Amino acid sequence: MNLDTDVTYLKGVGPKRAQLLARELDIFTVKDLLYYFPFRYIDRSKFYKINELTTDSTFVQVKGKVIDIVEEGSGNKRRLKALFTDGTNTAELIWFKGLNWIKQSIIKGVEYVIFGKPNFFRGMISFVHPEFEPFEKFQKKAYSGKLQPIYSTTEKLKKNYITTKVLSEIIANAFEKIKNIPDFLPEYLRKRLGLLPLYEALKNIHFPEDQFILSKAEYRLKFDELFINQLALVKQKRLRTEKIPGYVFEKIGDYFMKFYNEKLHFELTDAQKRVLKEIRRDFKSGRQCNRLLQGDVGSGKTVVALMSMLIALDNGFQACLMAPTEILAQQHYQTFTQMLDGLDINIKLLTGSTKTRERRIIHHQLQTGELQILIGTHALIEDTVQFKKLGLAIIDEQHRFGVAQRAKLWQKGKIPPHVIVMTATPIPRTLAMTLYGDLDVSIIDQMPPGRKPVKTWHVTERYRPKLYKFIKQQIQKGRQVYIVYPLIKESEKLDYENLEQGYERILQVFPPPKYRVGMVHGQMKPAEKEEQMRLFAEGKTQILVATTVIEVGVNVPNATVMVIESAERFGLSQLHQLRGRVGRGSDQSYCILVTKDRISKDALARMHAMTHTNDGFKLAELDMKLRGPGDIFGTAQSGFPYLFKIANLTKDQRILELARNIAQEVIQQDPMLAKPEHLLLSKEVEKEIKRSPWGLIS
Ligand code: ADP
Ligand code: MG
Repeated sequence: MNLDTDVTYLKGVGPKRAQLLARELDIFTVKDLLYYFPFRYIDRSKFYKINELTTDSTFVQVKGKVIDIVEEGSGNKRRLKALFTDGTNTAELIWFKGLNWIKQSIIKGVEYVIFGKPNFFRGMISFVHPEFEPFEKFQKKAYSGKLQPIYSTTEKLKKNYITTKVLSEIIANAFEKIKNIPDFLPEYLRKRLGLLPLYEALKNIHFPEDQFILSKAEYRLKFDELFINQLALVKQKRLRTEKIPGYVFEKIGDYFMKFYNEKLHFELTDAQKRVLKEIRRDFKSGRQCNRLLQGDVGSGKTVVALMSMLIALDNGFQACLMAPTEILAQQHYQTFTQMLDGLDINIKLLTGSTKTRERRIIHHQLQTGELQILIGTHALIEDTVQFKKLGLAIIDEQHRFGVAQRAKLWQKGKIPPHVIVMTATPIPRTLAMTLYGDLDVSIIDQMPPGRKPVKTWHVTERYRPKLYKFIKQQIQKGRQVYIVYPLIKESEKLDYENLEQGYERILQVFPPPKYRVGMVHGQMKPAEKEEQMRLFAEGKTQILVATTVIEVGVNVPNATVMVIESAERFGLSQLHQLRGRVGRGSDQSYCILVTKDRISKDALARMHAMTHTNDGFKLAELDMKLRGPGDIFGTAQSGFPYLFKIANLTKDQRILELARNIAQEVIQQDPMLAKPEHLLLSKEVEKEIKRSPWGLIS
């Protein structure tokens, strides 16, 4: 038996259980099972004495005998009481359910181990529905005298009697058969870092004797995950920078200079200048540029993207920009055509709704090279779209495009274009390191001057009348207003009703024709949505009632008020994204978070953070602390992020830094991981590269 053996061959697992484990927990092999880690532990290493128990005691185990059993009450009030003693004092064990079975199984005078939370009542200690088992049996359990692992299980597993205890027994059975696991970490590293051997680490993560060894096991397994991840990224990055050639954009030409001198009506911020320099350095290096461009909403990424494209054009190449939605693509197209007006650049828009005739022209002009800049949506990566000489691909709002999709922009074997990925979702450092560790990162960490920070308030429903008055004042000044309702997949219908009700209410408070109110939501046809967005963007509607479809990128500088209804239901990053829709012009803008009177502590912390900072990076860090990395982008929409099993990006930053450093060291001396001592390691890294959503993008 080895790690790859099917779990069916383990004692305690038949075909039916194997099927359940596979379906419910993705456990197929012994390895999967050993890597199914407990999520917490119960201290079974110590027996408490009854006279030591205090009102502060949590779950404890006590060893003793039952000296008397009585049944009390009748009907619903029936209960079983057993008097239990360990020699130091007595306690009552009480059951309300399953009395017959318990009465039969408890034998007076036999030594039992009971486990539960003690209650104190009128000088008497009692345990309600304690776990109990004969000491003799307990001694044989894998967790006896140790920490007992608790695994998460599902309803379906529980129904089929695969409880956390049963899981732990099955895992114990696996360790009976497997006495050795080849360690992929080379001995020299393990020794140097003081890490447990893999077998020890796995055994102790399931059956730790004490807290100390558990910490060592956790440390080793966390390091493993982060180290393999970083090795994969560092290796990929090295491969890319050393092996993949990039087009050389030597010169700054007429397009760039003319734009810079005649079209750009503002001074670039220092951050924008720095980032442009970083991009230029890549363009000249002869290596492919693979850069993540991060910047808070409104920090001015678009101009940087545009100027980078002009450099490509100056060097005789084409450029494209891919946006996640049709609305955004259109907006970029408008911005670009406006900004490039008078420069004689052929720029076109390609989306799902581009007419066949226009599409044909685009395809043709792309191939002849006449078309210089193409802006669009996913439509850009259809097979029929072929560039003559694509030099730069810019991707807006990264997390909605997969790596495979990016790779479709060019043909295999050709020199890949330079790639710049723009994201307005600030990413905490640790997350960036693990997700984009193979990309170079540029950050625009400065806002254009003169921008007034958005004022943010948190109010409860009672404030509504005042809120409406405030909105009316803003509209009177000629401003526009967003009112956003949550849209969460699971309760789409309910949210929709919320939105409809909200819309009705708004219509009553803001009746037409004096006020014009628009609405967009996810269930509308794209054309309707576009129309509503257009009306708002053109100032024809004053209030836009919407779901989070407006979250990303929409630019209506005249909108100064963002009202977020049921704000307690949004995550911080999302709230911040929504807030970024206002404050885009020169007028003072406002974000108003409306919640119920009573909200959870976490929700309150989010509201507090929103009203106290406008810094997207700070909020992202906090969001990760509050919710964990998995939820930062709303897992449902994005399909990433990739989660670690045991490493925690919020808490394990230092292990991550260490893993990064060691990975760099190892790749430095053995770039292809070809040395014999790195053989097993190399296999793990290859698996990671296959599994991960980043990989080499060519
Ligand atoms: P982002 O894409 O990062 O959210 P944009 O590029 O859309 O931000 O910029 C937001 C607004 O700020 C745009 O209207 C843009 O023209 C303007 N802007 C960008 N850079 C500057 C600057 N350096 N000075 C003044 N305004 C700027
Ligand atoms: Mg933008």
